[in-house]
Amino acid sequence: MIPITKPFLPPIEEYSHFVKGIYKREWLTNMGPLASQLEMDIKDYLNVKHLLFVTNGTIALHMAIKALSLTGEIITTPFSFVATTSSIVWENCKPVFVDIDKKSLNIDPKKIESAITDKTTAILATHVYGNPCDVENIEKIADKYNLKVIYDGAHAFGVKIKEKSIFEYGDISICSLHTTKLYHSVEGGLIFTKDPDLLKKLSLIRNFGFSDFNSFSELGINGKNSEFHAAMGLANLKYVTSILEKRKILATQYTKSLSTLKAYIPEWHHDSENNNTYYPIILESEELLLKIKSELDKNEIFTRRYFYPSLAETLPYIEKQKLEISHDISRRVLCLPLFYDLTLEEVHFICRLILRVQNN
Ligand SMILES: *Cc1c(COP(=O)(O)O)cnc(C)c1O
Repeated sequence: MIPITKPFLPPIEEYSHFVKGIYKREWLTNMGPLASQLEMDIKDYLNVKHLLFVTNGTIALHMAIKALSLTGEIITTPFSFVATTSSIVWENCKPVFVDIDKKSLNIDPKKIESAITDKTTAILATHVYGNPCDVENIEKIADKYNLKVIYDGAHAFGVKIKEKSIFEYGDISICSLHTTKLYHSVEGGLIFTKDPDLLKKLSLIRNFGFSDFNSFSELGINGKNSEFHAAMGLANLKYVTSILEKRKILATQYTKSLSTLKAYIPEWHHDSENNNTYYPIILESEELLLKIKSELDKNEIFTRRYFYPSLAETLPYIEKQKLEISHDISRRVLCLPLFYDLTLEEVHFICRLILRVQNN
């Protein structure tokens, strides 16, 4: 059996080294020393100015919308994980979907302006599969119409544009540290901003809005994360470089072995390197996708139609919109198994099966 993904686990001694410290201190959560250390170490690793370690990526999105006091309409992408949209609705705003670019699969800045109304307050875009959005053009539009920008960078750990971390773009960026992501703390999230006042506000929001023991200055939530999660984050951080290297080797092999497949892979941002957090292929037709998927299923190789269906067409709590490109792409995109423990032999095997389906 080959799963679509498998969590990375550090050697157990390295995790228990941190856990022993927790037992000694008996400080289990509420911004403990490991959580603070994790924040500092990730800041160094990513070379970013500020960040907060929070419960998960979804809460990070909620906190971002809250901290920017967004109301009305938020322009967003239909091609993402459900949390990108649900967080907007949960925060009493209306998601307005703008179609994606066929090559990058990210929101298409050329189509944003015509979706702006006098109620629009922000753009919430996803760096899909870690591939940077067209941040320059999004920023231009945001400046012109005085809109806030939030980036859902759940997939984008370690991604840079030139030398600058992807998380330094927009008013706020978030990342997910969920088990299924490239780098994880079991459950967890990160929230980034370059603005120190906004950072302060976010850190108050993270802790119920307490300004001191007996008073509140913000409408807050429990956005904290625990020492045990921080321990896993710290133990895993040491391995990020080798995780990135291994994924690159596997992804390169997929690309080589599948060169004759009637499919394409998303076009990566020209000034950025792929972190290979997923290996998506966009097949010629949905029919071919279904044939390949069922053949792989038969061989206990599990793939995922990520992201299918388009968020704009199916969520029961939104005004439905059919957008041509995301409708089409979401039917034809398939993510192949990609994780640290996957072997090159397994990649060869998967590719042989895929090509056999096509050539039959
Ligand atoms: C995983 C994911 C999230 C949510 O992150 P959690 O940490 O699981 O809450 C949000 N957006 C995207 C694009 C994701 O893939």
